[in-house]
Amino acid sequence: MARALETVWVFGDQLNRKIGALATAKPETHRILIIESAGKIASRRWHVQRAHFLVTSMRRFALELEQAGFKVDYRKSATMRKGFKEHVAKFSPSQISVTEPNSYTARQLVASLKVQTVKSNQFLCHPDDYAKFAGDKKSIKMEDFYRWQRKRHDVLMDGKNGDQPVGGKWNFDEENREPPPKSGHDRWPKPKQHKLDKIDQQVLDDLPSSVFGKKPDGLWATSRADALVRLKYFVKELLPTFGEHEDAMLESNWHLAHSLLSPYLNNGLLLAQEVVDAAADAFAKGNVPINSAEGFIRQILGWREYIWNCYWRWMPEYAERNHLQAHRPLPPLFTNPKKTKMKCVSTILNGVNERAYSHHIERLMVLGNFALISGTDPQQFTKWMWNSYIDAHEWVMVPNVLGMSLYADGGQLATKPYASGGAYIDRMSNHCKGCHYDRKKRTGDDACPFTVLYWDFFLRHEKAFVKNPRVARSVRAAQQLSDVVELKKTAKKILQRLDDGEA
Ligand SMILES: Cc1cc2nc3c(=O)[nH]c(=O)nc-3n(C[C@H](O)[C@H](O)[C@H](O)COP(=O)(O)OP(=O)(O)OC[C@H]3O[C@@H](n4cnc5c(N)ncnc54)[C@H](O)[C@@H]3O)c2cc1C
Repeated sequence: MARALETVWVFGDQLNRKIGALATAKPETHRILIIESAGKIASRRWHVQRAHFLVTSMRRFALELEQAGFKVDYRKSATMRKGFKEHVAKFSPSQISVTEPNSYTARQLVASLKVQTVKSNQFLCHPDDYAKFAGDKKSIKMEDFYRWQRKRHDVLMDGKNGDQPVGGKWNFDEENREPPPKSGHDRWPKPKQHKLDKIDQQVLDDLPSSVFGKKPDGLWATSRADALVRLKYFVKELLPTFGEHEDAMLESNWHLAHSLLSPYLNNGLLLAQEVVDAAADAFAKGNVPINSAEGFIRQILGWREYIWNCYWRWMPEYAERNHLQAHRPLPPLFTNPKKTKMKCVSTILNGVNERAYSHHIERLMVLGNFALISGTDPQQFTKWMWNSYIDAHEWVMVPNVLGMSLYADGGQLATKPYASGGAYIDRMSNHCKGCHYDRKKRTGDDACPFTVLYWDFFLRHEKAFVKNPRVARSVRAAQQLSDVVELKKTAKKILQRLDDGEA
C-alpha cells in the first residue's frame, strides 16, 4: 500500500513557498491543506476589497501549488477546526506540520490539535530573538531595535568593520517631514492595476452580502507574480522620492510615493527580506537617495518588526487595554462619511471606501488622532479599522491602533499620545482650504473639531500627561488658554454633534 502523504497546513497569511513548513515540502511526499473558513468570512462586515484580496490570493496560491505538482486540499469549511478534522478524516496524513501562525487565536487552535509546529521565518525578527535582545529591559525604544536589526542583517551598513550606518546617520527623518509641495501634485506615477479574471469574479460571487465598499478594480494584486510586479514598479518609479513627502497628505493624490506593499507583506505574497533587499540594492546602484532608502527600510526592518514583536510580547491582555477610559461608541461618521463636514476626515474615509487603504499619516494623525481626542472606545475603533483596511491583521492592527494611535496601553508602545489640532493638519495637508470649519477657531459653531478637541483632550487628561516630558507643554498651554470655559462648552457641543452624526 502506498504510504500516506504528510500534510503541510498553510494559513491564508502564509502564502509563500519559502515560508516555514512549506519551504521543505515536496510534491512526492506532501499534500497541502488550505482552509477557507466560511465562518471567518461571515464573522464581520468586511470591506469587499479586503475579503476579495485575502480569499482570491488563497485560491490562486492553491492553483500555483497544483501547477508545481502538489496535491492540494483546498477545503471550504464552516470553521478552521472543522476543516482540519474533515481533512484528517479524508486523508489520514502520516504527519501534519504547520508554520507558527501569525495570530494568537490561530496559535491556540494549532496548539489544541495534533500537529507539528515549524518555526516561522516570515519575519525578520523572530520573537525568540527579540526576547534575547530585550533581556530584562523594561521598555525597548524602536530606534535601538532598528539599529540592532540594521547591524545584524547588515543592511545599509558601512565603515571598516561594517559597523557604521551608510551616510553617517541612522536616521534621515529630518529630511522626510516636508509638507506637501505647493504644486505638481500629479508628480507621483499612478499605482499599477491589472484586469480581473474569472477567479476574481467567482470570489466576488461567493462573498456574503454583508461586505461594504467599492468592488475591486485590480488595484490590489492577488498573486505572487503580480505582487512582484508591484514591488519592481515601486522601487523603480517611487522609491527615489519616497522620503521627502512621506508625512504629507493631499486631497488630490491619495498615494504620493507610498509603496502600497503592506497587503502582500502581510499575507506572504512578498517577503520582508526581498523588499528590504530590493530597496538596499537600488540604493547601492545609485538609483535612490539615502533619505528615501533609509526612510523606507526603517518602516519594514524597524517599525514593522517592532510592532510584530510588541504583539507577541503583550498579547492577549493587550487587546483589551483602555488606559484613558475612552468609552465613546464608534461615531457614525466612520461608517458613513456623509455624517461629517470635516474635509480631511471625509476625504480619507471616502478613500477607504474606494480602496480599503489610506496611508500612515492619514491613519495616525487624522483618523486615529480624531478617535483619540474624541475619546472613542479603542476596541470599537480597532474593529472598524480591521474590517475596513486591505492590510489589516490582528498582530499589526492592535499595537498600531491601541498603542501607537490611542495611547490605550498607557504608553507601553508610544511614549506620548499622538494628539494634534487643526494646525498640524493644515501644515501637512491641503485639506483645510475650503473646509466648513476654521482650523484657527476654538470656540463657536465653525470651530475646527480637531483644534477644540485637542485642547479639550489635554484638559480632560491633564493629570495623566502633565508629567510626560514630551507633551507637558501642551497640557500647560491648555491650562493657560484665556477661553477655557467657552472652549469646554464648544467641545461638549462638538461631541454631541459627533454622536448625532452631524459633526
Ligand atoms: C492606526 C494605524 C493602523 C494601522 N494598521 C495597519 C494594518 O492593519 N496593517 C499594516 O500593515 N499596517 C498598519 N499600519 C501601519 C502603516 O500605516 C501601514 O503599514 C502603511 O500605511 C501601509 O501602506 P504602504 O504599504 O503604502 O506603506 P509605506 O509608507 O510604503 O511603508 C512601507 C512599509 O512599511 C511597513 N510599515 C510602516 N509602518 C508600519 C507600522 N507602524 N506597522 C507595521 N508596518 C509598518 C508596512 O509594511 C509598509 O508596507 C497602521 C498604522 C496606524 C497608525
